[in-house]
Amino acid sequence: MTTAEQLRAPDIAALQIRVQGLVQGVGFRPMVWREAHRLQIRGHIRNDGAGVLIVAVGTSSQLDAFIDHIKTHPPMLARVDEVQWEPLPLERIPPNFTILDSTAGDVETGIVPDAASCPDCLREIFDPFARRYRYPFTNCTHCGPRLTIQQEIPYDRSGTTMADFSMCADCEAEYRDPVDRRFHAQPIACHACGPKAWLERADGKPIAFDVFSMLDAVDAACTLLQRGHILAIKGLGGFQLACDATQEGAVARLRRLKAREGKPFALMARDLTVARRYCQITETEEALLQSPAAPIVLLQTQAGATVAPSVAPGMRTLGLMLPNTPLHHLMLRRMDRPIVLTSGNRADEPQWTDNESAKAGLGHIAEYFLLHDRAIAQRVDDSIVAMSNNLPRIVRRSRGYAPTPILLPDGFGQAPAVLAMGSELKNTFCLLRRGRAILSHHIGDLDDALTHADYRRAIAHYAGLFAHAPDLIAVDRHPEYRSSKAGYALAAKQSLPVRAIQHHHAHIAACLIDNGISLDHPPVLGIALDGLGYGDDGQLWGGEFLLADYRTATRMGTFKPVPLLGGEQAMREPWRNTYAHLMAELGWARFAMNYVELDLYAFLDAKPRRTLDNMITHSLNSPPASSCGRLFDAVAAAIGLCRDRASYEGQAAIELEHLVDRETLEQEDDSLAYPFTIPLHKGAGIPYIEPLAMWQALLGDLQLQTPPPVIAARFHKGLAMAICAMAGKIAKSCEGERTIRHAVLSGGVFQNRVLAELVARRLERLGFAVLSHHHVPANDGGLSLGQAAVAAAQALSHME
Ligand SMILES: [Zn+2]
Ligand SMILES: [Zn+2]
Repeated sequence: MTTAEQLRAPDIAALQIRVQGLVQGVGFRPMVWREAHRLQIRGHIRNDGAGVLIVAVGTSSQLDAFIDHIKTHPPMLARVDEVQWEPLPLERIPPNFTILDSTAGDVETGIVPDAASCPDCLREIFDPFARRYRYPFTNCTHCGPRLTIQQEIPYDRSGTTMADFSMCADCEAEYRDPVDRRFHAQPIACHACGPKAWLERADGKPIAFDVFSMLDAVDAACTLLQRGHILAIKGLGGFQLACDATQEGAVARLRRLKAREGKPFALMARDLTVARRYCQITETEEALLQSPAAPIVLLQTQAGATVAPSVAPGMRTLGLMLPNTPLHHLMLRRMDRPIVLTSGNRADEPQWTDNESAKAGLGHIAEYFLLHDRAIAQRVDDSIVAMSNNLPRIVRRSRGYAPTPILLPDGFGQAPAVLAMGSELKNTFCLLRRGRAILSHHIGDLDDALTHADYRRAIAHYAGLFAHAPDLIAVDRHPEYRSSKAGYALAAKQSLPVRAIQHHHAHIAACLIDNGISLDHPPVLGIALDGLGYGDDGQLWGGEFLLADYRTATRMGTFKPVPLLGGEQAMREPWRNTYAHLMAELGWARFAMNYVELDLYAFLDAKPRRTLDNMITHSLNSPPASSCGRLFDAVAAAIGLCRDRASYEGQAAIELEHLVDRETLEQEDDSLAYPFTIPLHKGAGIPYIEPLAMWQALLGDLQLQTPPPVIAARFHKGLAMAICAMAGKIAKSCEGERTIRHAVLSGGVFQNRVLAELVARRLERLGFAVLSHHHVPANDGGLSLGQAAVAAAQALSHME
């Protein structure tokens, strides 16, 4: 049908089409423009506060095809959440299809996360005849920086740190051309007009470039890495420290200078070919590595080629990512082995983001600096993803994922605006409003002063970017969390109500949201296992079985409370938990009588036992805690893992997981798994998991010199069986009143893949539908989402 015939056709109609989701700054309008031209549809498209609004005039079959294409073929970085349309009166037929200027308004549209270089941009940077050959800041509407450069809304170049660079004529022509891949790509740049990268020596001396065979500063960085130097690199969301991952001298030096003791370093490999020499990579993992988010993926190590021992001591996995910016691609082009790429900070501080302070802060670690002159508006770390039960699970949600909005399930459509402040460790915060939640990037541990300052800055930044003014503030019930204190202070300043949400209830709610469970879903059995959280009774909890929905949570079961010897010190010194457990279960006399030949006995006997016993007897700085995390510490230290000191949170538990002997786990009879019992708390009250029989079996195995990997396997299996027995018992006790169908697994302990898989498999056998985390971390990184959901749910029921 020609255009003339089409215009005379009787069924010409006009539609107004509303598209919501992540549709701005991702090449959505040019895609629609091209499709409209292909289908000979007339009208226009514009961005507004709610997404994009299209007026389309054509025949019904053209319009059907048009809407279908919008739904099924969005651009790479877009996410279409909803397409709605309604007929418009057809007054006149527009002469063509055009892109109109944006209109302001309520900001409901998402800001997309930073995205790894796309294949088209990669082709250009490696093509010697292309205008952007070896240009380290190449990007287009399908890739490049977003959150890390955005200072304010709307997402226009003037509101980003690219405002410092004015486009050259060539870039401007691409920017204005609707058919170009760079139409309205705000960070567009090239050699002529964009940011530049250069190399400096940490000691300030000039670089003798003649010692290199090199193309440019980025290429020279590769030579320096190959020669064993440590480099500081200004990455996308902050500084990074790099060295050759196969040179033990360099890796050990980096570890020492960065004051990072045991925590594994992440790696970056040029491509999958290099990565495969060191790691086993499944198809799903391959897709994750190559996705626009380009996270660090935790991979099983490959027999054969190995990286330096200091990269990941005691681990069977390596955290590896592929290059995500042109700068990293160019730097690694000649590198046929992985590099260590870790955040440019000291210990638990945030990464540096600007050149001068990075030079001052990292000058004693790095010998060279690869710098550039584009400012970082928002510090963002790398994300971490691990596979469990063959599904990807986000462990740290940051670059590439944040701040993608999380669509809330049914019932949250009218939710008030909530700001949830998060936890103390692995902190994030969350902005919730009307059916959507923005979970911030990973902030870090708030006990560090710089991180705490960064947290307050980030909250203000997000509030501006998303035009979010809270109606209420949600905090953790723990009054001493810095995030809680900040929440109360903010609430006082703005005269807002505060809701204090129980830690484990928030964990379960986060997992419910993660699985799209609706607001009015009947209560589930929530199993929240972590280190510590403040309980409803003012005690420290950490291994909880809750009958929960979004609004309320009732504690139905727990772990036996054991003194936390020395409070916070018990987290850093795992043996303290072993001692507390053994004293609670056996007492010293019985332990000494039966196990005097164990090296564990000698170790504990050398400790200041009188002081410790005194602390326990008089409850001095040794609060009882029903913590599953501390039980892991106690068991790890008993068999000699990380006994004296843990250098990072959860180290003992992580090393215990990595030790597990797979054959014992899969083939050994269940009867050899360590037994637990489930009595009632203080003879009445709620049931708890009692570890006495487990300790007797474990100590017996130590006497028999059973290999530690077998002990680790028997402990994991026994614990999983105890957790499932508790779940079954609770479900049974509720029968009659209600049927509990769902078991919901959350809390940092469930990042233990061995435990999570055992528990899930056995719960399913008991008839539970098991829900666990995928898009939001099971650890405290997901807590703020749960807090926001609970606060919103409670506020909604008040409004009814
Ligand atoms: Zn691109
Ligand atoms: Zn240019």
